[in-house]
Amino acid sequence: MLDSIVIGGGPAGLSAALVLGRAGKRVVVFDDDNARNKVTHESHGFLTRDGIHPSELKELGKKDILKYPTVSMEMQRVNEIHRENNHYQLITENGDLYQTKKVLLATGLKDVFPHVEGLDKFYGSSLFSCPFCDGWEMRDQALVVIFE
Ligand SMILES: Cc1cc2nc3c(=O)[nH]c(=O)nc-3n(C[C@H](O)[C@H](O)[C@H](O)COP(=O)(O)OP(=O)(O)OC[C@H]3O[C@@H](n4cnc5c(N)ncnc54)[C@H](O)[C@@H]3O)c2cc1C
Repeated sequence: MLDSIVIGGGPAGLSAALVLGRAGKRVVVFDDDNARNKVTHESHGFLTRDGIHPSELKELGKKDILKYPTVSMEMQRVNEIHRENNHYQLITENGDLYQTKKVLLATGLKDVFPHVEGLDKFYGSSLFSCPFCDGWEMRDQALVVIFE
Protein backbone atom coordinates (compact mmCIF):
# COMPACT_ATOMS: atom_id res chain seq x y z
CA MET A 1 0.00 0.00 0.00
CA LEU A 2 1.52 3.30 -1.15
CA ASP A 3 0.93 6.63 0.58
CA SER A 4 0.39 8.49 -2.70
CA ILE A 5 0.31 7.97 -6.41
CA VAL A 6 0.97 11.00 -8.57
CA ILE A 7 -0.49 10.75 -12.06
CA GLY A 8 1.51 13.01 -14.35
CA GLY A 9 5.27 13.57 -14.25
CA GLY A 10 5.39 17.11 -15.60
CA PRO A 11 6.59 20.08 -13.52
CA ALA A 12 3.46 19.93 -11.32
CA GLY A 13 3.59 16.19 -10.58
CA LEU A 14 7.35 16.15 -10.02
CA SER A 15 7.13 19.12 -7.63
CA ALA A 16 4.42 17.33 -5.66
CA ALA A 17 6.48 14.11 -5.54
CA LEU A 18 9.52 16.04 -4.31
CA VAL A 19 7.64 17.46 -1.34
CA LEU A 20 5.98 14.10 -0.58
CA GLY A 21 9.35 12.31 -0.80
CA ARG A 22 10.90 14.77 1.59
CA ALA A 23 8.07 13.97 4.01
CA GLY A 24 9.09 10.29 3.84
CA LYS A 25 5.95 9.24 1.96
CA ARG A 26 5.97 6.18 -0.29
CA VAL A 27 5.14 7.60 -3.70
CA VAL A 28 5.04 6.41 -7.30
CA VAL A 29 4.81 8.94 -10.12
CA PHE A 30 3.27 7.71 -13.38
CA ASP A 31 3.92 9.50 -16.63
CA ASP A 32 3.22 8.66 -20.26
CA ASP A 33 5.46 11.43 -21.57
CA ASN A 34 2.86 13.48 -23.38
CA ALA A 35 3.40 16.95 -21.93
CA ARG A 36 1.33 19.85 -23.13
CA ASN A 37 4.45 21.76 -24.18
CA LYS A 38 6.25 18.91 -25.92
CA VAL A 39 6.18 20.80 -29.25
CA THR A 40 8.29 23.63 -27.89
CA HIS A 41 12.09 23.86 -27.68
CA GLU A 42 12.43 26.35 -24.85
CA SER A 43 10.54 26.89 -21.64
CA HIS A 44 10.59 30.41 -20.23
CA GLY A 45 9.80 32.34 -17.10
CA PHE A 46 10.86 29.80 -14.48
CA LEU A 47 13.56 31.38 -12.35
CA THR A 48 17.04 29.80 -12.78
CA ARG A 49 15.87 27.72 -15.80
CA ASP A 50 14.74 30.38 -18.28
CA GLY A 51 15.14 29.00 -21.82
CA ILE A 52 15.65 25.39 -20.80
CA HIS A 53 14.36 22.62 -23.09
CA PRO A 54 11.22 21.14 -21.47
CA SER A 55 12.66 17.62 -21.59
CA GLU A 56 15.80 18.79 -19.77
CA LEU A 57 13.67 20.41 -17.07
CA LYS A 58 11.84 17.09 -16.70
CA GLU A 59 15.12 15.12 -16.46
CA LEU A 60 16.40 17.49 -13.76
CA GLY A 61 13.11 17.10 -11.92
CA LYS A 62 13.35 13.31 -12.11
CA LYS A 63 16.88 13.43 -10.69
CA ASP A 64 15.62 15.54 -7.79
CA ILE A 65 12.78 13.20 -6.85
CA LEU A 66 14.76 9.96 -7.27
CA LYS A 67 17.24 11.08 -4.58
CA TYR A 68 14.52 10.15 -2.10
CA PRO A 69 14.41 6.38 -1.49
CA THR A 70 10.63 6.21 -1.01
CA VAL A 71 9.92 7.81 -4.42
CA SER A 72 9.92 6.05 -7.78
CA MET A 73 8.72 6.82 -11.27
CA GLU A 74 7.01 4.59 -13.83
CA MET A 75 6.86 5.65 -17.45
CA GLN A 76 3.44 4.28 -18.26
CA ARG A 77 -0.13 5.48 -18.48
CA VAL A 78 -2.68 5.00 -15.71
CA ASN A 79 -5.85 3.76 -17.38
CA GLU A 80 -8.21 3.18 -14.46
CA ILE A 81 -8.76 4.36 -10.88
CA HIS A 82 -11.20 2.56 -8.59
CA ARG A 83 -12.21 3.76 -5.18
CA GLU A 84 -12.21 0.93 -2.59
CA ASN A 85 -13.27 1.38 1.04
CA ASN A 86 -10.42 3.52 2.32
CA HIS A 87 -7.97 3.40 -0.55
CA TYR A 88 -7.67 3.46 -4.36
CA GLN A 89 -6.73 0.81 -6.88
CA LEU A 90 -5.04 1.91 -10.08
CA ILE A 91 -4.54 -0.12 -13.23
CA THR A 92 -1.83 0.86 -15.70
CA GLU A 93 -1.61 0.33 -19.43
CA ASN A 94 0.58 -2.74 -18.79
CA GLY A 95 -2.15 -4.20 -16.59
CA ASP A 96 -0.18 -3.63 -13.35
CA LEU A 97 -2.26 -3.05 -10.23
CA TYR A 98 -1.26 -0.51 -7.55
CA GLN A 99 -2.92 0.34 -4.24
CA THR A 100 -2.61 3.73 -2.59
CA LYS A 101 -4.14 5.82 0.16
CA LYS A 102 -4.14 9.03 -1.95
CA VAL A 103 -4.15 9.91 -5.64
CA LEU A 104 -2.80 13.23 -6.85
CA LEU A 105 -3.86 14.21 -10.36
CA ALA A 106 -1.23 16.31 -12.15
CA THR A 107 -2.25 15.41 -15.67
CA GLY A 108 -1.93 18.93 -17.08
CA LEU A 109 -4.10 20.63 -19.67
CA LYS A 110 -4.83 19.84 -23.29
CA ASP A 111 -5.09 22.69 -25.77
CA VAL A 112 -8.18 22.77 -27.94
CA PHE A 113 -7.15 24.24 -31.27
CA PRO A 114 -9.24 26.45 -33.53
CA HIS A 115 -10.04 24.95 -36.93
CA VAL A 116 -7.35 26.61 -39.03
CA GLU A 117 -5.83 24.58 -41.83
CA GLY A 118 -2.07 24.04 -41.46
CA LEU A 119 -2.00 25.29 -37.87
CA ASP A 120 -0.07 22.24 -36.65
CA LYS A 121 2.91 23.11 -38.92
CA PHE A 122 3.55 26.33 -36.98
CA TYR A 123 2.43 25.40 -33.48
CA GLY A 124 5.36 25.61 -31.09
CA SER A 125 7.68 27.39 -33.53
CA SER A 126 5.94 30.64 -34.54
CA LEU A 127 2.42 30.04 -33.24
CA PHE A 128 1.86 29.89 -29.49
CA SER A 129 -0.92 29.86 -26.94
CA CYS A 130 0.80 31.82 -24.16
CA PRO A 131 2.18 35.35 -24.66
CA PHE A 132 4.04 35.18 -21.33
CA CYS A 133 5.84 31.99 -22.39
CA ASP A 134 6.83 32.92 -25.94
CA GLY A 135 5.95 36.59 -26.56
CA TRP A 136 9.48 37.89 -25.96
CA GLU A 137 10.94 35.76 -28.77
CA MET A 138 8.30 37.14 -31.18
CA ARG A 139 8.64 40.79 -30.09
CA ASP A 140 8.45 43.60 -32.67
CA GLN A 141 7.15 41.20 -35.32
CA ALA A 142 3.83 41.35 -37.11
CA LEU A 143 1.21 39.63 -34.98
CA VAL A 144 -1.87 37.57 -35.82
CA VAL A 145 -4.27 36.76 -32.99
CA ILE A 146 -6.64 33.82 -33.53
CA PHE A 147 -9.87 33.73 -31.53
CA GLU A 148 -12.51 31.07 -31.76
C1 LIG B 1 3.67 25.69 -27.00
C2 LIG B 1 3.71 25.82 -25.49
C3 LIG B 1 4.73 26.56 -24.89
C4 LIG B 1 4.78 26.69 -23.50
N1 LIG B 1 5.80 27.42 -22.96
C5 LIG B 1 5.86 27.56 -21.61
C6 LIG B 1 6.90 28.34 -21.02
O1 LIG B 1 7.74 28.91 -21.73
N2 LIG B 1 6.92 28.46 -19.68
C7 LIG B 1 5.98 27.86 -18.88
O2 LIG B 1 6.04 28.00 -17.66
N3 LIG B 1 4.99 27.12 -19.41
C8 LIG B 1 4.90 26.96 -20.75
N4 LIG B 1 3.88 26.25 -21.30
C9 LIG B 1 2.89 25.67 -20.42
C10 LIG B 1 3.47 24.33 -19.95
O3 LIG B 1 2.98 23.33 -20.80
C11 LIG B 1 3.11 24.17 -18.51
O4 LIG B 1 3.71 25.22 -17.74
C12 LIG B 1 3.62 22.85 -17.93
O5 LIG B 1 3.75 21.83 -18.90
C13 LIG B 1 2.60 22.47 -16.89
O6 LIG B 1 3.06 21.36 -16.23
P1 LIG B 1 2.06 20.23 -15.74
O7 LIG B 1 2.90 19.29 -14.94
O8 LIG B 1 0.84 20.81 -15.13
O9 LIG B 1 1.53 19.52 -17.09
P2 LIG B 1 2.33 18.73 -18.23
O10 LIG B 1 3.71 19.25 -18.39
O11 LIG B 1 1.43 18.70 -19.43
O12 LIG B 1 2.46 17.28 -17.61
C14 LIG B 1 1.37 16.41 -17.45
C15 LIG B 1 1.91 14.99 -17.62
O13 LIG B 1 0.88 14.08 -17.24
C16 LIG B 1 0.99 12.96 -18.08
N5 LIG B 1 -0.28 12.24 -18.03
C17 LIG B 1 -1.53 12.69 -18.33
N6 LIG B 1 -2.46 11.72 -18.14
C18 LIG B 1 -1.75 10.63 -17.70
C19 LIG B 1 -2.14 9.30 -17.33
N7 LIG B 1 -3.41 8.91 -17.36
N8 LIG B 1 -1.18 8.44 -16.94
C20 LIG B 1 0.13 8.82 -16.89
N9 LIG B 1 0.55 10.06 -17.23
C21 LIG B 1 -0.39 10.94 -17.62
C22 LIG B 1 1.32 13.54 -19.44
O14 LIG B 1 1.93 12.58 -20.28
C23 LIG B 1 2.31 14.67 -19.05
O15 LIG B 1 3.65 14.24 -19.11
C24 LIG B 1 3.79 26.09 -22.69
C25 LIG B 1 2.76 25.35 -23.29
C26 LIG B 1 2.73 25.23 -24.66
C27 LIG B 1 1.61 24.43 -25.27
